[in-house]
Amino acid sequence: MDCLFCNIIAKKFPAVFVYEDETVAAFLDINPVNPGHTLLVPKEHFKNIFDVSTDTLCDMTTATKRIAPAIRAALSADGINLIMNNERAAGQLVPHIHLHIIPRHSTDGFHNWKGTPYKDGEIEYTATHIRARL
Ligand code: 5GP
Ligand code: ZN
Repeated sequence: MDCLFCNIIAKKFPAVFVYEDETVAAFLDINPVNPGHTLLVPKEHFKNIFDVSTDTLCDMTTATKRIAPAIRAALSADGINLIMNNERAAGQLVPHIHLHIIPRHSTDGFHNWKGTPYKDGEIEYTATHIRARL
């Protein structure tokens, strides 16, 4: 087994777990954005959003609904970011699907990315292409 997170789930590699059930596990990121930054992973190996099963994604969502408020309370956070990086272009370094659950503080000084307004007609053009594939 050469997947880092599969090895962590199997307890072959160390990690500090905060939650575990039959389908998912959650452990602290070793390089946190803020203390309490947690990685939620399914026990079954999928790479990312493109191959994960709907059932497994639902299991992740169910666990997130439980874990996020616990992190907020434990770290006295003002907010929580839920982030999933999918593929290298989007910043995915570990190819086992994971959701970052990141406690945020109004004073932490981190800024989410800034948007750029669409050019004329671009928003409808873009939506048309997305809708055509749904
Ligand atoms: P990605 O960029 O793939 O979305 O995020 C991977 C995350 O995994 C990073 O935030 C990184 O700090 C974390 N990470 C990498 N290796 C390990 C490890 O061995 N243990 C733990 N707990 N986290 C790790
Ligand atoms: Zn894996």
